[in-house]
Amino acid sequence: MINKLIFLGPPGAGKGTQAQKLEKDYGYKKISTGDILREEVSKSTDLGKLASQYMERGLLVPDDVMIQIIKKWVNKFDKFVLDGFPRTLKQAEELEKIVPIDRVIYFEITKDEVIKRLSARRICPKCKVVYNLLTNPPKNDEICDLCGSKLERRHDDAPEVINKRFEVYEKQTLPLLEFYNSKDLLIKIDASGNIDEVYQRLKKVLFYQV
Ligand code: AMP
Repeated sequence: MINKLIFLGPPGAGKGTQAQKLEKDYGYKKISTGDILREEVSKSTDLGKLASQYMERGLLVPDDVMIQIIKKWVNKFDKFVLDGFPRTLKQAEELEKIVPIDRVIYFEITKDEVIKRLSARRICPKCKVVYNLLTNPPKNDEICDLCGSKLERRHDDAPEVINKRFEVYEKQTLPLLEFYNSKDLLIKIDASGNIDEVYQRLKKVLFYQV
């Protein structure tokens, strides 16, 4: 059984969108460390205040903070997708001590495609649903289909921050590919194309293959 998943890939690869679909269709809890942190920021908690200093600049929140957060979450669910964690080797090593992972899915996509997607990404501040003005627009102009809230652009989707996030990803997160490949956990999927195309590829590697 494949119950515990990690989604790896650059910002804007569609990890959150695909995790949302697996949650709805198959009951995997989507655990997004970015969503957890944004919630703390919006409530102005101590953690939120600390995290926002890093997030605004496209930098990673310190490992020890992230590890404490993830410990609380993964132990609550038997079936989950980690979206946005781990992002460093240290986080991956610590995660191993907390819970065994069944598969790591790597979302492969070019930087050009990611920049196009992130520039058009909008998020509902209330229900957190993610839209894309080009490929997955809401029915009414920048209004959430589900709750009617005005959609927002994430602060870190501003062009200067996008570049920094990509740089940080290449330096700190890409080494995880080798880490998980050497443990025979890694599966790559082509993350280009529309949401349904990627979802079909994802389901194929997760459910139709031994
Ligand atoms: P995301 O929504 O996954 O793109 O995350 C948004 C921001 O939250 C990142 O740019 C980081 O500043 C922070 N963040 C999320 N997950 C992590 C993590 N595992 N380690 C460090 N920082 C993180």
